[in-house]
Amino acid sequence: MAPQKLVFIGTPKSDQMKNIICIFLLIAAFKADAQKKGYKIYISGDMEGVTGVVTKEQLGPEGFEYEKFREIYTNEVIAAIKGARKAGASEIVISDSHGNGQNLLIDKLPKDVTIIRSWPRRFGMMGGIDETFDGVILLGYHTGTTNKEGVRAHTFSSAKLADVKVNSESFSEGAYSAMIAGNFNVPVIMVTGDDKVIEETKSYLGNVEGSVVKWAMSFESAKTLTPDSAYHLIEKTAAKAISRIKDFKPYKVNTPVTLEITFKNYRPSEMLAYLPQVTRPTSHSIRFIAKTIIELADFVTFVTGYSNDLEP
Ligand SMILES: [Zn+2]
Repeated sequence: MAPQKLVFIGTPKSDQMKNIICIFLLIAAFKADAQKKGYKIYISGDMEGVTGVVTKEQLGPEGFEYEKFREIYTNEVIAAIKGARKAGASEIVISDSHGNGQNLLIDKLPKDVTIIRSWPRRFGMMGGIDETFDGVILLGYHTGTTNKEGVRAHTFSSAKLADVKVNSESFSEGAYSAMIAGNFNVPVIMVTGDDKVIEETKSYLGNVEGSVVKWAMSFESAKTLTPDSAYHLIEKTAAKAISRIKDFKPYKVNTPVTLEITFKNYRPSEMLAYLPQVTRPTSHSIRFIAKTIIELADFVTFVTGYSNDLEP
């Protein structure tokens, strides 16, 4: 036994080696741990609240400035990613949640993010959210349809919907996204857009971080920052939001939850009222009571996505 024991008594030199190996192992373990503890962030991106956007010319493939503004939108997302990473985000998912859902120039995005594109998808602008996320950034958002101010104020569809109420409160897309995230216990930590959407978001979420990239002058006019200055602001704000991520609370909505949608046209409410779960309190509106937020969200996905001439 004695000789065997001797084998394990190191000389000062082998002790040194052991110490060095131990230190290396500790550093590696620490690094792996830090990586594991990095925040997982969801960025829901819209375009109406992007720097300089004021009309449909910037918002869809038929607009003369669309290609330019896809770039600016993409750069704003990149700025948010950079800021978030600096402050400790390690995993980032972005949902392209405007128009056709295919606006972001995905080859310009860093290689370690993933992107959710196109429709339909469960939870719409929050598609892919679940309880594994630590925080949500609403980028390029705009005010809701009943807000008298804000560039391109609308909820889901400016052409088709006049109001979306949840438990009797008129909801914006921001409030709706916050509610979906809140259902999974994930807080919204930051919003970017015009001055009015930042104000509106703070009215129901409290002190979230906000980047004002333009100041609304009317439905289709604004005083705007330049893109470069907006990127700088968004990066800085994202870093600040992540650094105080523990301050934010998930947005909770009581269930069962009552949804009321008012259409601009007459026939959608007339048709939807044939469903046994749907009532029609006024000519242009429907009411649906959902047991859970998920049930409500699935109903909204159906109502905003269905038409009987769908293809393919
Ligand atoms: Zn929108």
